[in-house]
This record gives sequence, C-alpha cells and structure tokens, in this order.
Amino acid sequence: MKSWDIIITGAGIIGVSLALELRQRGASVLVMERGEPGGESSSAAAGMLAPADPDTPAALRTIASASAQLFPEYVEKLESLAGMEVDFRRQGTIAFLETADGPPEYQPLSSAQLHHREPALVSPGHPSFFVQENSVDPRLLMRAALTAAQKSGVEIYGNSEVRAISIQNANPEVRTDRETFSARAVINCQGAWSGAPVRPRKGQMFYVQPQRARLLQHVMRAPDVYIVPRSSGKILIGATVEDVGYDKTVDDSAIHGLLTAGTKYLPELASATIIERWAGLRPGTPDSLPIIVMTGKRNVFVASGHFRNGILLAPITAKIMAYLAAGKTPAMDIATFSPNRFAAEKPSYADHAETFGTPAQSVKK
Ligand SMILES: Cc1cc2nc3c(=O)[nH]c(=O)nc-3n(C[C@H](O)[C@H](O)[C@H](O)COP(=O)(O)OP(=O)(O)OC[C@H]3O[C@@H](n4cnc5c(N)ncnc54)[C@H](O)[C@@H]3O)c2cc1C
Repeated sequence: MKSWDIIITGAGIIGVSLALELRQRGASVLVMERGEPGGESSSAAAGMLAPADPDTPAALRTIASASAQLFPEYVEKLESLAGMEVDFRRQGTIAFLETADGPPEYQPLSSAQLHHREPALVSPGHPSFFVQENSVDPRLLMRAALTAAQKSGVEIYGNSEVRAISIQNANPEVRTDRETFSARAVINCQGAWSGAPVRPRKGQMFYVQPQRARLLQHVMRAPDVYIVPRSSGKILIGATVEDVGYDKTVDDSAIHGLLTAGTKYLPELASATIIERWAGLRPGTPDSLPIIVMTGKRNVFVASGHFRNGILLAPITAKIMAYLAAGKTPAMDIATFSPNRFAAEKPSYADHAETFGTPAQSVKK
C-alpha cells in the first residue's frame, strides 16, 4: 500500500495551498480530487480580499486581516514557483454602504473624491468609502497554486473520489473505489462536500466585456451587487447567495437582476456584452465561520467551511493547519473555529469513515 506523510482530500484553493505549505516544510503530500483539480468553488469565486467588509463576521476579522497581510507574500510564492501571474490588483475598493458609519478601515469619500477616483461610478444615494482591499483572479490563482504545488513535489490525483477514511493500526487510511492509501495524517479540504454541518451556498455571477477600456479600476462593493475589474479589461459582476443544495444551474433572472443592480452604480454596464456566466458552491456553515480542527479520529483533520472568504483565507488556513498537523499549537487562537460550537448538530465528518461523499442536506433559509 502506498503511503505519504499527509493526504489531503479535495484540490481546491484550501487543500492545494495547504499541500504546498506542508511540502515546503518537508512532508510528502498527496492531494486526492474527485473531479478536475481546482474545478469547483475556488475557480468560481470573485477574488475579493475583503477582511474589513461589514459582511465579514466579527469573529473572522483577526484571521482574515492576518491572511490579507500574508497575501502579497503568498502571491509572490505562487507566481514565482508557477511562472505565471494571478492578476493581484492593489488599486483598492470603493464601497457603498447603507449608513454613513463605515468600519474604521473605510475612508469616507465626498462626491468629488468618488468622481476623481472612479469617474464612471455613480452613487444611487449611498455614502461611498475607499478601503485598501485588493483582488486576485481566482482561476489564475488556483492554476498557479496547482502548478506551484506539483513543481514542488506534491502529488495530485484527479478523478479520485475519496470514499472513506478509517483508522488502521493507529494511522488513517484513505479508500477510493480502486485503491487504499495510508498516511500519518489526513486532512479533509472537500469544500461544500466536507460533510455536515458544512453545506453548499450557491453563487451565480458573470463576466462582461465593456465597450470602453479601463472603465473601472477599483473593486466596487454595494449592498446588492459587487463589480470586480480584471487587468484584461473583463469585468465580473456578482453574486447571488442561495441555499438550494448542490444545484449549479445559472438562471437568466438572477443574471438580469445582478446586471440591473450593477448598472445603477456603473451605468456603462448597460452597453457591455455578457461573455460568460457560471455558478459555484461556497462551503457554508450555520454561523458563516470556517471549521479548522482535528476531528474525533486521531490525525484526521478538517479545514473547510470558508464560505465567502476562502480565497482570502487560504494562506492563513495553510499556516494554521500545518501547525495542527504537526501536533503543534498555532500562535493564533482558533477555538472559535472548533465544531464544538455546533454541539447540537453532530458533525458527520467526526466519524468520517462512512460519510465521505454524502452531501449535507440543504436547509431552506
Ligand atoms: C460565486 C462565488 C464568489 C466568491 N467570491 C469570493 C471572494 O470574492 N473572496 C473570497 O475570499 N472567497 C470567495 N468565494 C468563496 C471561495 O470560493 C471558497 O470559500 C473557497 O473556494 C473554498 O475553497 P475550498 O478549497 O474549501 O473548496 P473547493 O474549491 O470547492 O474545493 C473542494 C474540492 O474538494 C473536492 N471533493 C469533494 N468531495 C471529494 C471527495 N469525496 N474526494 C475527493 N475530492 C473531493 C471537490 O471536487 C472540490 O474540487 C466565492 C465563492 C463563490 C461560489
């Protein structure tokens, strides 16, 4: 039977960033992916890095800010190992809020200041703010992370669905339909498929090609829509948050609703051409906080439930989980991310052996 120091199940940005971190600390690492590596939520995201966003839960702020600070170094590492760029943009964000009181990081903008920064943006009556929050293209980031990990010696098996994890002779074993692998530790990074209480939260979004080049430079975030420019000239508009199970269909009414909302802030979107539409499944939890923990099974860990912030949280999660997998205590307090907070709802991954691959039930809002 083949054996590794660490087996990670799920090749999204969380699993692959962690694999690279562990490999760089000297571990032999296998990542097992059910479908195409990087093909789920991580490639469907907008790529905003927004720790101060009022929608970011207060309990997440410390690790979210720490991860935002790690991001330049993380991007540099991936870009140099992979030999490609990930469109890390540091122009910052214009945020429209419903109240005049923004978080301390938000600098209020007068109409003249807004116009000076982004002449094409208009405020439909909401106060506007500038915040130094960056963005990245998640598809490029994911591709770079996969290449960087492979070039560093991480093995990545696509089309390898993990069916079960069991403990044999004190070590975890991972079983697929065809083979069984053993490792010193196994880490479940299966995103929306990690097992209860993690459940999918669908997001629909789309790209437009505007008629005018350099139409928007900052990310724009408002209560009902966000707009993220890429350096290629494409502009992303998102996103719905839906509790509809594992459905990834895209519907015209959702796209139309987002376009109408976006056009309120950026009127020139009305003449832009829609060039691509898609949906992805965020790994949600009941309190919108991640789960980063060793399960009831010794040396079987979970890093999941990153919901709307998994791109932002990838570098810090990799560092925290690398400590946990080595039996050390991370410098940051991660008690908040223990599943003990869901005491009433027994996590299915706690006895993961029989529950891998079993979708968490969707719960209507
Ligand atoms: C529309 C949308 C917009 C978003 N915008 C942002 C944003 O602006 N900023 C931000 O920080 N985050 C954003 N996110 C959230 C972010 O995309 C997620 O939090 C993050 O991608 C989660 O990463 P992951 O690796 O846990 O999951 P995934 O990328 O989904 O990876 C999990 C992988 O596990 C695999 N898997 C599942 N079951 C098995 C099995 N049994 N065996 C083997 N493999 C398995 C899956 O196939 C999948 O590839 C957005 C998400 C969406 C959908």
